[in-house]
Amino acid sequence: MTTRHVVVVGAGSCGCVVAERLSRVDDVVVTLIEAGRDRPGDEDLRRDRLPVGPDAPRVRRHSTVDGLDLVRGRGVGGSSVVNGGYFLRGHRTDLDGWDRRWWDADTVERFHRTLDGGGTGGVMSVRRVDDADLHPRAVAFENHWEALGYDVVDAVWPTVGINRIRMNADAAARVSADRAFLTDAVRARSSLRIVADTTVDEVVLSGGVARGVRAGGDTLAADEVILCAGTLASAALLARSDGWSTSTFPLSEHREILLRYRDRSGVPGGAAGVPLLPTVLHTEDGVEIRCYNSDFADHIDGVPRSGPAVGVAGMVPGASGHLTMDAGGTVTLDVGGTQVATDAMRRWSHRVVDMLESSDHADLVEAGSVSIDPVLATSHHAWGTLPMGAATDALGGVIGVEGLRVVDGSILPTALSSGPHATTMMMAARIAEAISGPDSTRPAIPGRGPGGGGIVGS
Ligand SMILES: Cc1cc2nc3c(=O)[nH]c(=O)nc-3n(C[C@H](O)[C@H](O)[C@H](O)COP(=O)(O)OP(=O)(O)OC[C@H]3O[C@@H](n4cnc5c(N)ncnc54)[C@H](O)[C@@H]3O)c2cc1C
Repeated sequence: MTTRHVVVVGAGSCGCVVAERLSRVDDVVVTLIEAGRDRPGDEDLRRDRLPVGPDAPRVRRHSTVDGLDLVRGRGVGGSSVVNGGYFLRGHRTDLDGWDRRWWDADTVERFHRTLDGGGTGGVMSVRRVDDADLHPRAVAFENHWEALGYDVVDAVWPTVGINRIRMNADAAARVSADRAFLTDAVRARSSLRIVADTTVDEVVLSGGVARGVRAGGDTLAADEVILCAGTLASAALLARSDGWSTSTFPLSEHREILLRYRDRSGVPGGAAGVPLLPTVLHTEDGVEIRCYNSDFADHIDGVPRSGPAVGVAGMVPGASGHLTMDAGGTVTLDVGGTQVATDAMRRWSHRVVDMLESSDHADLVEAGSVSIDPVLATSHHAWGTLPMGAATDALGGVIGVEGLRVVDGSILPTALSSGPHATTMMMAARIAEAISGPDSTRPAIPGRGPGGGGIVGS
């Protein structure tokens, strides 16, 4: 039996899933390379903390053209270690544009179910936020929209209506991708080698084939390279690789308008164990209204107090921008949506002002204190630099390059009505399974498609 050497670049939400699954295959040896440090500690994963403050050790910050910090996780577990722990599936209709030969409803359901147990449990220990975790302002939020005719959605697939957040967390801690997939037993496999604190600089490409990766001057040969470095880094790695021809990539984001107010309830918001975001409204025109339980400063170290907030996020279609790398290797990020927020976001911001100034919020909101933040914020959900069906095939194979696949947020082909974490991990689990089978069951990589990037001269 010939051994297949696979290099997986990036041990984040997707890299952990892919490395675990491939290292179960008899003839495969996986080297998982991660730029940041190894395992997160218990303190990093507290359910009530969002470890992304100015001195946070496990993040990398990127500036956008409109001066925002775009944060990504760095270290084994990747962004799953530093994210909000919100683990909602998208709406079923979000996947309408996916290639149904690989992403039919039953298959998608099966892989979601392994992660979330069909709503509760699963590998990611998913659970619905309890009534006990709602601040009175979250209770008033849910009551307000229910009185206006919105359903309370209890199904595992979110729909338009009031959706209580499902979290990948137990009572105290978020369950990161590495805790779920890179257990001690998995780490003990001889077929898996984890190399932390090592940044891959480029993919070695020649004659239209990926031959390995270069890191710190060393070359590591591979039969297959799988980029799981995240939406920003996977594209940047390719752009930096000798022979790759494209330096501009599409980039999508869920922009968010924040509304702030002064609290009148006197009930502290940051009780131990309570998550920042317990409940959301999904609207019929693709907006997510986020009722934050408390001031961000109660959950993020080093940020100033600014009062409790409600967020109005444009989910579908989302904002469209670009990631560009110049000849000197400098990356510019434009997450789009800077000129004007969409009409839907503006309209909903005004409806949220009405809610906060209504009589049902009179005991919670100081009169005259509601303001709409002029800065158009981001959800840190960046996706779609190498989307399936354009730059990559239906299982992340890079079009026009043999032996190279991207399996991370880069390849999401459509905007999602919910945060991307659950869908992105589902996608990684499904692809990892498909490429773990015998050759005959794996998809052929089609020829180079329109706008798909690729190898010069291949
Ligand atoms: C602050 C924050 C909050 C979020 N909150 C939520 C939420 O509550 N709910 C939700 O649904 N989504 C949320 N998201 C988004 C979600 O976490 C991401 O979509 C998802 O984790 C992306 O997974 P990934 O595998 O694509 O990338 P990542 O998990 O980011 O993994 C990429 C990994 O690759 C490593 N890497 C990068 N470059 C290299 C290189 N050159 N060499 C070696 N390694 C490299 C990185 O260090 C990182 O560990 C949030 C994201 C952030 C950053």
